[in-house]
Amino acid sequence: MTAWTRVRNWLSAKRRFEFVATVAMVIALTAVGGALVLLPKSALHVRPVPAVADAAVPSAPADPQLPELRRVMESYAPVVTRQVCADDGRLSVVLGHPYQRDDVDALAGDVGAAVAEVTQLWGTDWARDAVIAVASDSAEFAALTHDTGEGSDQVAAASVSDPFVPPARPTGQRIVFSAAAGRRLGPDGLRETLRHELTHIAARAVTVDGSPQWVLEGFAEYSAHRDADRTFAQLAPTLTAKARAGALPADLPSDAAFAPTPGNAAELAYEQGWSANAFVAERFGEPRLVDLYRQLATGPQDAAALDDVLRNTLGIGRTDFIGRWRDWIKARAAA
Ligand SMILES: [Zn+2]
Repeated sequence: MTAWTRVRNWLSAKRRFEFVATVAMVIALTAVGGALVLLPKSALHVRPVPAVADAAVPSAPADPQLPELRRVMESYAPVVTRQVCADDGRLSVVLGHPYQRDDVDALAGDVGAAVAEVTQLWGTDWARDAVIAVASDSAEFAALTHDTGEGSDQVAAASVSDPFVPPARPTGQRIVFSAAAGRRLGPDGLRETLRHELTHIAARAVTVDGSPQWVLEGFAEYSAHRDADRTFAQLAPTLTAKARAGALPADLPSDAAFAPTPGNAAELAYEQGWSANAFVAERFGEPRLVDLYRQLATGPQDAAALDDVLRNTLGIGRTDFIGRWRDWIKARAAA
């Protein structure tokens, strides 16, 4: 029932395989007299849609957010649009501004493969297209992501969804890149960030706020990197260094460990989250990893609930899971 934004920040951009600090920013609903007042949709949709706006994107799919999205972006600068039609006719759209043409073209070039990759992992139970916007500056980024402006300089990209109540499907889903994303992330980082965010979008319909971060972010990271031709040490340098020094994680990372604080240790949490998902995929197979996500993304999980889900999904309890995950990290880090 909340508008929903997940953001990915820059901390990673310095590394080859960008560490990602992502934070769930939930737009608070207004409580009046104890009753929740649902936002009319997203904040963007509060503005009336001009009747002529559809003509601006004549061959776009019927995604109702497009005319308004384009109108908002045009209030910042002229808009360029790339439409990418998949083999099955599904249409993805990338919007940006003329001086970001390179980023728009790069994302348009990547989106077909990104949708296919995410679908290969997640399955076909999602829209299998994307609406992607490249903001011209931090103000536009904030407008497109409902961000209050706080910390938006830290953010590389965000995925956004309108409020929805299952079993309704999420609407108004889009990925918004910051103005500097292409320059700061480079082609590989841009591609992986797109896959990371697209994974959040694919899984959004079954993802409940408050679910464990190591599940939500670790899964998106696994999806972003699953075809990467990189070693464990390259994908998880902090985790590797610690493991080589004999410091293996005692437990799965807490939600608090993912908070992107300055100078932060969240990097380790992201690598741990990625590694837990990569461990499941390697030892149990990707279908069971997806099953695990679906079982654990249902809200907060205490140790007993996690134990139940792990037993039902993987056939091992929580303690056993953590022990095997630690052994896997130790073996990978030593390789
Ligand atoms: Zn994320």
